[in-house]
Amino acid sequence: MAPENVHRQAVLERRTRDGWLAGTDFDRAPFTIAWEITRACAFSCVHCRADAQHRRNPQELSTEEGFALIDRLTEFGSPILVFTGGDPMMRRDLFDLIEYADRAGLRCSLTPTATALPTVARLRRAQEAGIRRIALSLDAPSPEVHDDFRKVAGSWERTMTILRNARSLGISTQINTTVTSHNVDLLPEMVTFVQEVGAVQWSVFFLVPMGRGQQLSMISPERHEEVFAWLHDLSLAGEFDVKATAAPMYRRVAAQRSAGGSAAGAGFAFHDGLDRPAQGVNDGRGFLFISHLGDVMPSGFLPITAGNVRHDDVVDLYRHHPLFRGLRDPERLTGKCGVCEFREVCGGQRGRAYAITGDPFASDPACAYVPSGWTG
Ligand code: SF4
Repeated sequence: MAPENVHRQAVLERRTRDGWLAGTDFDRAPFTIAWEITRACAFSCVHCRADAQHRRNPQELSTEEGFALIDRLTEFGSPILVFTGGDPMMRRDLFDLIEYADRAGLRCSLTPTATALPTVARLRRAQEAGIRRIALSLDAPSPEVHDDFRKVAGSWERTMTILRNARSLGISTQINTTVTSHNVDLLPEMVTFVQEVGAVQWSVFFLVPMGRGQQLSMISPERHEEVFAWLHDLSLAGEFDVKATAAPMYRRVAAQRSAGGSAAGAGFAFHDGLDRPAQGVNDGRGFLFISHLGDVMPSGFLPITAGNVRHDDVVDLYRHHPLFRGLRDPERLTGKCGVCEFREVCGGQRGRAYAITGDPFASDPACAYVPSGWTG
């Protein structure tokens, strides 16, 4: 075994032995960390969280700062580290960062934009550096709707090419679909499509209205409910993993529809080496976001800054900052979520509550459920 692999194996064995694998205790470690290594992107997608820019910001974390950040993230054990953006392919040191993180024992995935940058050679390089999965956005099974979302003609076709190339290299692929009133009726067609392209997971993202996404329509709470039930049926069919993103209410629906009332793992069923958390991930609770400038937030959809990795310790922020601690405390929830019998397994999507009400602890406006104790 190569020396770097011996080191990596030793790191992983130590963490397993110490019970440090991600998901064991969300008060101590996130399951997933998303690092927006740049905000630069050639696209201007209408629902972009990052409100991405065409040029890189000179204040982005440097390569050395990135290495130092990764060193600190290892304190969390072996969480999933998502290299995201913007378009992460816009950074020339991307593969160095991936390699460094992989050797440190983090489980790396990548969310490239469907431009000409993810060539076969670059995908292979990403794979060699340690990428275990790539996730691509695809909002419709045909070019018209998707290209209109992305505001780039040909982006659907380009996505298909990247998916095919990744598959031929043996890289596991994930499709991310943002659900809005514009494409919700196309979801059933997406199922066949996801199967055909061989994706291991379909991540169905329920819109959080921020950035350019504010211009789009969220589906109604009742429509959310219908889609959750439909997704739950689909997940039971087991053709591929189904993940409801920015939708902890999906776990409530799964619990209501399960004989034992259990939602364990609902929406987070990974079978390809990326593991699954034992409990529901939510903003700041099993999830951590680091911006291109080093700001530490509970998620990219809850843009409240707790500190900055340039002068604060990211581990300390996640574990002890009042914002993060509050987001992990169901007692802090107000409105319907505050009295809901499902607040432990669900808790509502905190970013959506913040985007719509300005209060990260308010009820999730996308939820149709009326708790038994609700008198409002
Ligand atoms: S009321 Fe809140 S906690 Fe209850 S199911 Fe809806 S979003 Fe979840």
